[in-house]
Amino acid sequence: MLIGISLLAVFLLLAIQWYLISTTFKYQNRQFEDELTLAVKDILDPHYVTDEQFNTLFQYAENLAKTYKNKEQFTGKALLDEFVNGVKTKDFYASWLKEELPQKGFSGDFEHAAVLTYLGLNDLGKPINTFLFDTVMMDYKVSGDLLELNHAFPVHSFTQSRQDYLIGMTIFLDVPAQRQIVFQRMWVLLILAGMSILGVVSIFLFTLRSLIRQKRLSDLKTDFINNITHEFKTPLATIHLATENLRNPKIQSKPSGIATLLDVIQRQKNRLQLLLDQVIETRIVSKDLQLQKEKVLIHEFLENRIKDFRMKLEGSNIELNSSYSKREVELNIDTFHFTTILFNLLDNAVKYANENPKIEVRTQLNNSEFSIEIEDNGIGMDAKNQNHIFDKFFRVESGNIHNVKGLGLGLFYVKQIVLAHGGDIRVKSKLGEGTTFTIVLPI
Ligand code: ADP
Repeated sequence: MLIGISLLAVFLLLAIQWYLISTTFKYQNRQFEDELTLAVKDILDPHYVTDEQFNTLFQYAENLAKTYKNKEQFTGKALLDEFVNGVKTKDFYASWLKEELPQKGFSGDFEHAAVLTYLGLNDLGKPINTFLFDTVMMDYKVSGDLLELNHAFPVHSFTQSRQDYLIGMTIFLDVPAQRQIVFQRMWVLLILAGMSILGVVSIFLFTLRSLIRQKRLSDLKTDFINNITHEFKTPLATIHLATENLRNPKIQSKPSGIATLLDVIQRQKNRLQLLLDQVIETRIVSKDLQLQKEKVLIHEFLENRIKDFRMKLEGSNIELNSSYSKREVELNIDTFHFTTILFNLLDNAVKYANENPKIEVRTQLNNSEFSIEIEDNGIGMDAKNQNHIFDKFFRVESGNIHNVKGLGLGLFYVKQIVLAHGGDIRVKSKLGEGTTFTIVLPI
């Protein structure tokens, strides 16, 4: 809703900007044409070229008239065609315009045409016929180099009458670079408009992005609360049941029964402790993380942790293998946090496994980088989810993952710890085929 309104406001602003620019363009265009019109008038008036042109026209009209027997024929198309074709001779205006327009401040290229706009025929003062050439005007061009009027504008119009003839003429000018010239005149406005559009759009996009992020975070937090409630409920319920049973005199009389129940309570307590630790760990990471680094031989360190983890896997069909790069490397790491992130990644490989789970830990040494790969053949994930798995509280919500316990904090914590060591973590995964996490550390 809010986004819709802001989007509408942005579109409205853009529309207003567009309207302002196009109105200014029209205004500037008109002003440009007015300036040229004035300049042309100033140039032509002192030369009496108009009179000269008209003299030719009238002379031609009279000569033509003499060749026709009666004036009835003047009204026909034959006369018009002959008239127009006949007077297409001398270009009276070109030299004046080409010479003097630059002096008036316009030095660009232009083409022009003088076009008949009106022809009136009288007989002894009585009008016989009038012709208005306001369509297909180029058919009535009498001089000039312009071939079509589409982009041309009128700069000078005049009418003269002599004896039985009334003739109207208009000069058109076409400036091929007219748009560019007008836009150049508007450059300050265009830059300001461009900047303000850019500003408004980027502020809008920025706000939209943070809005979406906030919404995502709040959704994730809700998920987290749901998850943690769910996660705490089962151990608490089991502890509750176990303590109830302990109160049972029949059970109290059997030491083996007590021991079993105490084991259950212990296991559930451990589970609760683990969950709590996870939350606390990420809290520490979110605040300021203090690393207690020490130098370790990384292969030895990894192998010991893998051995510990294998103990957890005893009795399962999960295969966990390791292979190391030839050279042992000494790295400066926080062993406590590093152990936890390694276990987090291995735990995930177990949690999100398919049939016949196989986990591989590999190391590689290239130039100044040391990388640890943890590959599984588990359920994998699609590209869209891969982009978010390192976000706080994020869990993939599809298929059988709902049954797998988790808070969506593990990978967030892993990434923060790796970053704090100056390294980076990448994921490569294919849905249904498996996942490889690669931790890259500087040496
Ligand atoms: P969780 O507590 O949900 O396991 P994590 O931060 O460890 O939280 O992982 C985030 C999500 O990434 C998981 O919910 C899971 O969907 C996905 N994920 C993590 N590791 C793997 C893996 N090895 N294979 C497939 N999906 C995984």
